[in-house]
Amino acid sequence: DQAFPIVGRFAPSPSGPLHFGSLLAAVASFLHAKSRGGQWLLRIEDIDQPRTQPGAADAIQRDLAAFGLHWDGPVWYQSERLERYQQVFDQLKEAELIYGCDCSRKQVAAMGGHYNGHCRERQLEPSHEKPLAYRLKSSGVQTDFYDTLQGPQQIPAPFCQEDYIIKRRDGLFAYQLVVVIDDIDQQISEVIRGADLLEMTTRQQRLFQLLDATAPAFGHIPLISAKAGFKLSKQNHAPAIHLQPPSTLLFQALNVLGQSCPNEFSGAPVDEILSWAIQNWLPSAVPKVSEIVLNPFN
Ligand code: GLU
Ligand code: ZN
Repeated sequence: DQAFPIVGRFAPSPSGPLHFGSLLAAVASFLHAKSRGGQWLLRIEDIDQPRTQPGAADAIQRDLAAFGLHWDGPVWYQSERLERYQQVFDQLKEAELIYGCDCSRKQVAAMGGHYNGHCRERQLEPSHEKPLAYRLKSSGVQTDFYDTLQGPQQIPAPFCQEDYIIKRRDGLFAYQLVVVIDDIDQQISEVIRGADLLEMTTRQQRLFQLLDATAPAFGHIPLISAKAGFKLSKQNHAPAIHLQPPSTLLFQALNVLGQSCPNEFSGAPVDEILSWAIQNWLPSAVPKVSEIVLNPFN
């Protein structure tokens, strides 16, 4: 359909090199878009400068190219878009959808894990000695959504309705805000990503609504475990992937994603593996988040 083109994306944070978990997200998002003739964009999520590792963004691009995962159009960098983020921030502030908060980490922890809206009506103004974090008023966030890979999801209400931080006290915009602005501006129609972000989806959908934009479809792939019984909470601790040839890794990635790539493709050039995978992409075969998916290289 020309009016609603399919646009997927891969949005790695350059806090380290590509690892097997992020390769899975890259492959799944690529196939989900390409199998339906869509575009696949690359966005480097370097909003969190203190966590950005020098050289990681370039290394990720080299790795993706080695896997035959060629993106469409120019690479976007969040670090180049601060003015746009500020503009949206101002718009939300003008609409009184956000408020300043000076609560300490300790105070928030004492609220029992979820921020309780303490500063909502306090009308705090920032000063030089006392910079503020900014939180989005989150009442009205829906608690359920349909995940394109996982099916119907129910997210706990206290999480959905928490007034979460969209600009940090140190002045950095939060991932939560900028990911939505970027998905809007890049006209993303299909998000496929790791299940560590599944719960965030309802919050993000609310932001799309507040910004008068249509939210993309969201689908999540399971996180991989190093060993049975261990779930990696952050994929970042997984080892880098340079110890195996790209075609071996790609073949394994398809396996882990439940795509039964015929054995004859084992060791084939990456382009051949990918063109099989584009033609045979089966979203329903992707494992459920509840299953433990082992990293074949650990
Ligand atoms: N930058 C995020 C990460 O690497 C992914 C964001 C997303 O896909 O929505 O964990
Ligand atoms: Zn507060």
